[in-house]
Amino acid sequence: MEKEQLKKRAEELREKINYHNYRYYVLDSPELSDAQYDGLVRELVSIETKYPDLVTPDSPTQRVGAAPAEAFKSYEHRQEMFSLQDAFSTEELLAFFDRVKKVIPANQLDYVCELKLDGTAISLTYENGRFIRGVTRGDGKRGEDITSNIKTIASIPMKLRVSVPFLEVRGEAYITKDQFKAINKARSDKGETLFANPRNAAAGSLRQLDPRVTASRKLDALFYGIGYAEGVKAKSQWDFVMFLKEAGFKTSYQASLADTEKQVIEYISGWQEERNDLPYEIDGIVVKVNSFKQQQALGQTAKAPRWAIAYKYPAEQQVTQLLDIRISVGRTGALTPFAVLEPVKVAGSTISKATLHNEDEVHRKDVRAGDYVIIQKAGDVIPEVVAPIVSRRQKELPVFRMPKKCPVCSASVERIEGEAVARCTNILGCPAQQFAEIVHFASRNAMDIEGLGEAIAAEMLEKNMIKNVSDIFYLKKDDLYQLTNFKDKAVSNLYISIQKSKGQPLHRLLFALGVRHVGSEVADILAKHFFSLDKLAEATEEQLTEIPTIGPRIAISVVDFFAEKRNVEIINRLEEAGVNFEEPQELAPAKLDGLMIVVTGKLEHFKRDEIESLIKKYGGHSSSSVSSNTDYVVAGADPGSKYDKALELGVKIITEEEFERMIK
Ligand code: NAD
Repeated sequence: MEKEQLKKRAEELREKINYHNYRYYVLDSPELSDAQYDGLVRELVSIETKYPDLVTPDSPTQRVGAAPAEAFKSYEHRQEMFSLQDAFSTEELLAFFDRVKKVIPANQLDYVCELKLDGTAISLTYENGRFIRGVTRGDGKRGEDITSNIKTIASIPMKLRVSVPFLEVRGEAYITKDQFKAINKARSDKGETLFANPRNAAAGSLRQLDPRVTASRKLDALFYGIGYAEGVKAKSQWDFVMFLKEAGFKTSYQASLADTEKQVIEYISGWQEERNDLPYEIDGIVVKVNSFKQQQALGQTAKAPRWAIAYKYPAEQQVTQLLDIRISVGRTGALTPFAVLEPVKVAGSTISKATLHNEDEVHRKDVRAGDYVIIQKAGDVIPEVVAPIVSRRQKELPVFRMPKKCPVCSASVERIEGEAVARCTNILGCPAQQFAEIVHFASRNAMDIEGLGEAIAAEMLEKNMIKNVSDIFYLKKDDLYQLTNFKDKAVSNLYISIQKSKGQPLHRLLFALGVRHVGSEVADILAKHFFSLDKLAEATEEQLTEIPTIGPRIAISVVDFFAEKRNVEIINRLEEAGVNFEEPQELAPAKLDGLMIVVTGKLEHFKRDEIESLIKKYGGHSSSSVSSNTDYVVAGADPGSKYDKALELGVKIITEEEFERMIK
């Protein structure tokens, strides 16, 4: 009975897998993540392993890829192209080593480790050193003739530097991460469906009927494998890669020879982190028995060689359902759409939300509530929705519209022309803005008020303990007992950290105040220029733009901030509460120690009082007349008699630039 049921399940799985193979290999447009697809294959393999008589010759477990599409001429590979066995854990890798060691004695073995580029396999044929044909892997026996498209890949040699009578060489055509983004951007601009990942983009680009389209996709290719060959003397994988290099092919410079299993494992774990820094995607490491003779002795199964294995890293992509698109309201009133997802595990963590950035981005990707979507989490990068799977949309789903009213306070929403962000206009009263403002103010890079995080900020607002950031400093110890579960210790800790934060330097306060366009770097520049909040508050747009790196956008924003009544009130209350408004002046190194310096002529870089205070700051003295005691004369344009006097007395004359270098 069980066998009957499993037989039915196997048939079902074969049908499903074949359908997904078709979408993946022929349409280059998968509907499942690789991990989900691999799950189906594993289930089928486990049934077929239990009951080998249930294996059918056309089972996807016995075949590679998919048959060549009819649109292309098909071509029979001189030597078959295989897939790879895969390992998803160290145990599976160790089991592979054990299988190998049953055939080859351990002390005779070495391995080549290569990055497993996530592109699409190609096979090129060269006759007497000349390129004659390029073919896809297809079903492993026959591939699609894509010669004209291959010729658009600039790094592929049309003529080899080392001539051999016949060479079939295997490699991977791929698209860099940056190029992938550019392609998807261009596709979304044209309203076309997006590629799921660089691999599908590479495969789709290579299988174009018009080579000009392929050329526009800027593919690249890297080579690692030998097919049928005449006149190649290499006796091992390592030798062969060296031969490829010499012949003029691009090969992986990260490949490495490993004498021990331990070295293989180290190579794998080393690249797990570092792969995020590579310009292209890799989905694992390919480990190959090095010697060709040993490879032959090991042979192959219907689908893959027994002498190689692909160790796969945890999947960084998953497919899940986007349940809803909701809006969060930030500190500056910005409305940010985010996706609420059916929770799914990606690269080790469970993801249930992902930002969608802004309205244009939602439309660009055309994601809709109810869609199945591809989500991705690479390295430390926050999870993102890559694209919807349009083919899985069973009914028309509503297109996202930004609400006209703030979802928190119902005030009207405004989107200024030319800006990507829509904002709630209720700057003074929107609770979401107040909340975000306080959380930001107290955060680690701002005033660093330990213990005042999101939960406490929300409770303080809810219980009317505070309305804005200045109120924090008027909280008495007694007030803090209102907070849930706050007893003496918690009250005292929070109280102390609030008091301590009053002494933070100006640059932190400035960042904490959340002036638009003033991030922590700009806050630092402004604080170190004005040294006091009062001086900054009086600065005009012109004065601000005179500071290098401060442009008109920031200048206008700063001036507007200090002109706003609400902000003035908050600042006054902060001052009354004893919050520090100054930036400590660092003692400048005495680079001009004891030097007597005279300035003359029209200066370009400094105002007269500015340069004089710099001379003082760095330990020098400035004087208005040149004498034999003068060490330097800084001369601007049209210098007058002081210049002549300096020449007469042989005093060193320097330019403004030279002066700047002296104090650098
Ligand atoms: P594979 O991609 O896992 O491994 C074989 C391929 O690795 C080779 O053909 C070659 O192109 C490539 N490769 C990269 N670097 C290499 C190197 N240094 N040496 C040798 N080969 C190297 O196997 P496959 O049979 O092409 O495809 C299976 C993969 O496709 C699985 O990851 C599976 O999840 C995915 N898939 C997904 C779907 C889906 O619906 N999501 C459908 C079908 C297949």
